[in-house]
Amino acid sequence: MATNRTFTMIKPDAVQENHIGGILHMIEEGGFRIVSLKKVRLTPERAGKFYEVHKERPFYNDLVNYMSSGPIVAAILEKENAVADFRTLIGATNPAQAAEGTIRKKYAKSIEANAVHGSDSDENAQIEGDFYFSADEQF
Ligand code: ATP
Ligand code: MG
Repeated sequence: MATNRTFTMIKPDAVQENHIGGILHMIEEGGFRIVSLKKVRLTPERAGKFYEVHKERPFYNDLVNYMSSGPIVAAILEKENAVADFRTLIGATNPAQAAEGTIRKKYAKSIEANAVHGSDSDENAQIEGDFYFSADEQF
């Protein structure tokens, strides 16, 4: 079932460099409504659980260390066709390949420190949003 919602994180590098406001501005200008929002620091255990789907990938340990290296901002976003439209707004995983006008083109530093996360399906958007926010925080 399409929920018209997606989930994002502003990653540690972008938070560290004071880009929370700039990125949220691009998200709102892109037509997304912020449903839920919080700044949190993940423990390595929690970062590992969030990225469990990637645990066989060679970059998994680095990714877990990076994502727990400093605070992140988690948010649930709402828009028609949210998952696909948000992937378009953030741009390619590798900022060297990210299109002009995308969040990663503007703010990402490397393929790992790539400023933002975006869910890749409606199902994962729901799972990832629920990972951070209880039902009474999703409005
Ligand atoms: P995200 O899931 O964070 O939105 P994505 O869907 O574009 O990113 P994935 O393939 O799901 O990319 O990878 C998850 C994250 O793992 C990437 O955003 C990046 O931070 C990191 N990553 C991916 N590929 C590499 C790589 N080759 N080397 C280092 N880190 C990587
Ligand atoms: Mg992904």
